[in-house]
Amino acid sequence: MIAPAPRLTHELPDTTDVAIVGGGIAGLATAYFARRAGLSAVVIERRPAIASLSTAAATGGFRAQFDNEPESRLVRESLRFHAAFADETGLADWDLGIMPQGYLFCVFEESSAARQRALVERQRQWGLSDVEILDPRTIRARWPWLSERVTQARFRAADGWLDPKRLATGFAAASEAPCVVDTDVRAFARSGERVTGLVTSRGPIAAGAVVLAAGPFSGVLAATAGLALPIAPTRRCRLVMPHVPEAPADAPMTIDEESGAHWRPWRGGAHGMLTLPDVAAEDPLDVVPASDRFAFALLDPARPTALARLSPFWERVWRRQDQHWVVRAGQYDDTPDRRPLLGASAVPGLFLDTGHSGHGVMSAAACARLTMDCVLGTVAHADNPFRADRAFAPLDPAAL
Ligand SMILES: Cc1cc2nc3c(=O)[nH]c(=O)nc-3n(C[C@H](O)[C@H](O)[C@H](O)COP(=O)(O)OP(=O)(O)OC[C@H]3O[C@@H](n4cnc5c(N)ncnc54)[C@H](O)[C@@H]3O)c2cc1C
Repeated sequence: MIAPAPRLTHELPDTTDVAIVGGGIAGLATAYFARRAGLSAVVIERRPAIASLSTAAATGGFRAQFDNEPESRLVRESLRFHAAFADETGLADWDLGIMPQGYLFCVFEESSAARQRALVERQRQWGLSDVEILDPRTIRARWPWLSERVTQARFRAADGWLDPKRLATGFAAASEAPCVVDTDVRAFARSGERVTGLVTSRGPIAAGAVVLAAGPFSGVLAATAGLALPIAPTRRCRLVMPHVPEAPADAPMTIDEESGAHWRPWRGGAHGMLTLPDVAAEDPLDVVPASDRFAFALLDPARPTALARLSPFWERVWRRQDQHWVVRAGQYDDTPDRRPLLGASAVPGLFLDTGHSGHGVMSAAACARLTMDCVLGTVAHADNPFRADRAFAPLDPAAL
């Protein structure tokens, strides 16, 4: 039997119920939920391949451990969807590469430990009852390769990671929507105030609703419709090391909660991630330059963000000096509170599934479901906690 595949095309239909700008995971998930609602959808993607910009840069981490209830709820809804993906979508045996190996947030200082305990207490009040607070003895018994300087950790065994491309292309295949690639959306078609379709490099398409899911490009595109979206494209990187025999294959996503540096095992190697402190917002980019500066910040044990602070075996990895690595760069589409912008915008006919701020893979299913509920009018604007005209909550600087 031939496996189902996304419907890539260069033919632009004249009309559709829902026209979606952007063939990243957000746009593809939206196409899937449009189909579930009985609507036709067309995804328009500027690049020759879908899921090839920010979605391809992601490490695929998912966690219910958030610092706010609405996002934790959003991710938990998505995780339930992933667990039932084949049944939900009808794609038998579609493997999302789910690795539920846990998320382990480690701290060294008592002030950070107190903060962790307060957060886990709040999470329990939201019904997230399976986050453990671990003492040093338990930590070392479970993960003997962790630094003895780790004084406390919070751990949720059901968190983990999956393959972002498999999830995105699974949504595309299950949606059966045409993904019109190599096609640039240049403007929004209007009838008075209302957006009624798109003007593209292949001509116009009329639509009952337009969903903007252009990742880091959503802000500049929205501006062409007179809509100001608070989206700041911010460069983030992933270190990919194909061969790290020291990294235990069953390790969780292991995070230094104080520096933000984290790593996880990957097919005999490892991925390393970090938010460099001095990264400013920039223009959205189709080609995001990567720098070895990022690799050194994680690998050189002399740096305050070194992975060796967390797991000392990284010092041996560095001393060998024989490691191959690739730095994969992308951009987060950061919003002021690092939560997505979903649902109706101030422009009639134009809806949003964007501003995912580094969490767009793990929450894609629930974000797209909510966006389509807003298109259908089954969720009142005031009941949508991710509406773009909300008051933005103050940002917790320690939040990942
Ligand atoms: C290094 C890194 C690590 C990450 N790790 C994780 C993780 O572990 N877990 C997680 O959940 N998230 C992670 N993320 C975040 C995640 O990748 C994003 O939140 C998610 O991919 C956003 O998806 P999207 O569809 O909104 O954007 P994108 O994937 O960027 O898709 C937007 C698409 O719109 C297209 N487009 C833009 N303008 C136009 C136009 N004018 N016409 C037509 N098409 C257009 C673009 O070409 C692009 O394909 C990470 C991101 C990075 C950079």
